[in-house]
Amino acid sequence: MTIRIEPIPALESNYIWMIHDDHAAVLVDPGCAEVALSALKAHGISLTGILVTHHHADHIAGIPRLLEEYPVPVWGPADERIATLTHPLQEGDTVDLDSPKLTLEVMATPGHTSSHITFFNDTMIFCGDTLFSIGCGRLFEGTPAQMQNALDRIARLAPDALVYCGHEYTEANCAFALSVEPNNPALAQRAQAVAQLRANGQPTLPVTLGDELKTNPFLRTRLPSLIAAARQIDPDCGTTATEVFATLRALKDSR
Ligand SMILES: [Zn+2]
Repeated sequence: MTIRIEPIPALESNYIWMIHDDHAAVLVDPGCAEVALSALKAHGISLTGILVTHHHADHIAGIPRLLEEYPVPVWGPADERIATLTHPLQEGDTVDLDSPKLTLEVMATPGHTSSHITFFNDTMIFCGDTLFSIGCGRLFEGTPAQMQNALDRIARLAPDALVYCGHEYTEANCAFALSVEPNNPALAQRAQAVAQLRANGQPTLPVTLGDELKTNPFLRTRLPSLIAAARQIDPDCGTTATEVFATLRALKDSR
């Protein structure tokens, strides 16, 4: 049966991703129950499971209400801050879903939070608040080295895989990325497409990992153009990927 994946806009800027076939759905990061319940009802399908990338409220707050309606398994990072978890996961684990039929691998991607995980296979990547389109998550509980390493590992996944991020931040991210890499034609093109999509009220996600590699400054920290940009921001910045990443992230945080 064909599997489809749709964004359910929630809260200010979140996307709850609904992975479904004709009968059932699994939700990724349901930060709000009402919109998720409406989407399930609109499709006439039931909920069979919940996947969680990290413990932040805007990714888990809807779970208790959803469980009242559908007592389903909850897969997420082994972290006591996620009280509703039934299946704690760690690096290297596999999640086998029956309905919709789907297998996802689990990768530890700390940086945004200490226990953040990413679900992936050859065609899809659910990366929560680790990787955004043209950006990345803030470092609330991790170091630049951890986040750089997490992004490196995501960057090595299948280039044709679609990236399903936790937030619609792409338009603002494009403005920042253009300010540090103004001569990247692929970025200019993506920024234009993103502006058009947002003007039409459409999501800018998912996006292929291959497209992100061409446009996302936080995945391009080894390139001479980004190293030069980082050293222009901070003349003391070194040339390692982690130092370049840290400088770009600090500049983004200051804006
Ligand atoms: Zn978060």
